[in-house]
Amino acid sequence: MIKTSTPLSDSFGRRLNYLRISVTDRCNLRCHYCMPVEGLRFHQKSEILTFEEIVRTVQVANRLGVDRARITGGEPLVRQDLPLLIRMLHQETQLKEISMTTNGMLLERFADELAAAGLDWINVSLDSLREKRFHQITRFGQLDTVLRGIERAAQAGIRPIKLNTLILKDFNDDELDELVRLTLEQELIVRFLELMPIGEGVRLGHLGSYLDLTQARQQLIGRYGLVPAKVSRGNGPAKYWQIPGAKGMIGFITPISDKYCDSCNRVRLTSNGEIWPCLAYDTHVKLGTAIKAGDLGAIEAGLRQAARIKPAGHHWEKGQVTQTAMSSLGG
Ligand code: SAM
Ligand code: SF4
Repeated sequence: MIKTSTPLSDSFGRRLNYLRISVTDRCNLRCHYCMPVEGLRFHQKSEILTFEEIVRTVQVANRLGVDRARITGGEPLVRQDLPLLIRMLHQETQLKEISMTTNGMLLERFADELAAAGLDWINVSLDSLREKRFHQITRFGQLDTVLRGIERAAQAGIRPIKLNTLILKDFNDDELDELVRLTLEQELIVRFLELMPIGEGVRLGHLGSYLDLTQARQQLIGRYGLVPAKVSRGNGPAKYWQIPGAKGMIGFITPISDKYCDSCNRVRLTSNGEIWPCLAYDTHVKLGTAIKAGDLGAIEAGLRQAARIKPAGHHWEKGQVTQTAMSSLGG
């Protein structure tokens, strides 16, 4: 029986039960809105938390009521032996749900192992169904490879599979209909994301710009007669709809046009052991030393401190920008 402590909650009364775990700040792609080609400084290998250290941190978080986690990065699948971490989290922690966000480039290779290790569900980022455009936005991505990865994950029994599509005005907003129609015959959950002014996202411009998805949502609801839907698994802010009778669903993540900070339930653990209570501010608690020393009391205190300093919400809609790269925060 694990010993429980007072559940983690912030100064605004929000319960924090969801941990985003970034396992690396490195990536095999360089999406224009996320990572520059040059100039990024990556964490030193010695700073990166080992799998045992991540598990230890999750076990402390479990005692504070954190029972869901998502593995992210950078690209989580570039971290060596990632399925082993999923297995360890599955067997050695009290997490009720373990999911992962990936760019899908290595998914075909790892899908079976991930499923066998206990991965519950997966988000695959896919910004275009057009080969050239996909390559353009990701700089090194191959659409075919990602599509094969998605198919393999479905065959391996990973459910649901959610596609994350960042919609940019004048870049891929002409694909909204095609993506919506994809859910007619396929059991996919297609989620549209708004661009956030974080890191490279602030400097985008040359490859499309922010699109208000609340407006796009209204148009799609009218055009397809979308009805509200509920997903079986998920902890985030997305709101879901469905074409009546369709196999899949459509989700909208609208941090700017339909802000959801009031219901935020998460903190982030970076690959070098920092706890970030909010994506929008560079405020964080450095816990790398405590985690590496196995100081469970200090880890708990650090998590509580992060909860205490969690801001009420972002101010991106008023022009606030966030400098830190999304790839190191674990988006
Ligand atoms: N590499 C993995 C992937 O691409 O799915 C996981 C990490 S990536 C940082 C997680 C998600 O953040 C992706 O879906 C990506 O589209 C999103 N993202 C990155 N930069 C963003 C930005 N400036 N605004 C909104 N979403 C962003
Ligand atoms: Fe890599 Fe994901 Fe960032 Fe693209 S969005 S550069 S795949 S971390």
